[in-house]
Amino acid sequence: MTDAGKRPEKRFSRRSRRDESSARFEDLAVGLAEIGRNFYRRGWMFGTSGNLSAVVSEKPLRLAITPTGLDKGALAPEQFLEIDEAARVIRGKGLPSAETGLHLAIVRARGAGAVLHTHSLWSTLLSDSFAAEGAVLLEGFEMLKGLRGVTTHEHREMLPIFENSQDIARLAERVQSLLRSDPAVHGFLLRRHGLYTWGKDLAEAKRHVEVLEFLLEILGRSRNGV
Ligand SMILES: [Zn+2]
Repeated sequence: MTDAGKRPEKRFSRRSRRDESSARFEDLAVGLAEIGRNFYRRGWMFGTSGNLSAVVSEKPLRLAITPTGLDKGALAPEQFLEIDEAARVIRGKGLPSAETGLHLAIVRARGAGAVLHTHSLWSTLLSDSFAAEGAVLLEGFEMLKGLRGVTTHEHREMLPIFENSQDIARLAERVQSLLRSDPAVHGFLLRRHGLYTWGKDLAEAKRHVEVLEFLLEILGRSRNGV
């Protein structure tokens, strides 16, 4: 076959990969927007708080992520941004979330397909109550079996607590190093700030938020007798 004969096929396959990536970005944006509106209604992402991301492609690394400053109760798919491994916007308008560095750190350390971050009442309260211990322990609950790889209620889940910081680059380094050294961790808390968790895909990450928020509420209510 001549070179001329090969060219159209190559051009077509390149175009096809781009279309595939666009379609994947659009599907993820629809799923992320729906999760944002759902979490807002449940009181986990009031106002512009919290942020959501999912991996569009691993090589090169591309994430669909919430822009900063948007009301999570009215999130629409067309508002999402696509960013590269250096958090540069390559699709969409606006600035990526201020905490984008944490999303990238989690994806790198865990190979996560989606990262979800809430500012719920119980994660904010308990991250402060247990700050001196450095972690919240969740054990003995059937609901723990909703976490990836957990098969019994006898499991003990440790949610590490990091001191909150506006220096996201430094915080991301600390998070990445802990996640690499402790593969059993499914999420972590930022003190007086909120919960981060992730999953192999959007559905698993959403399930992890639901499990951890449920268990944090159980722990908080049982400590306070409510
Ligand atoms: Zn936050």
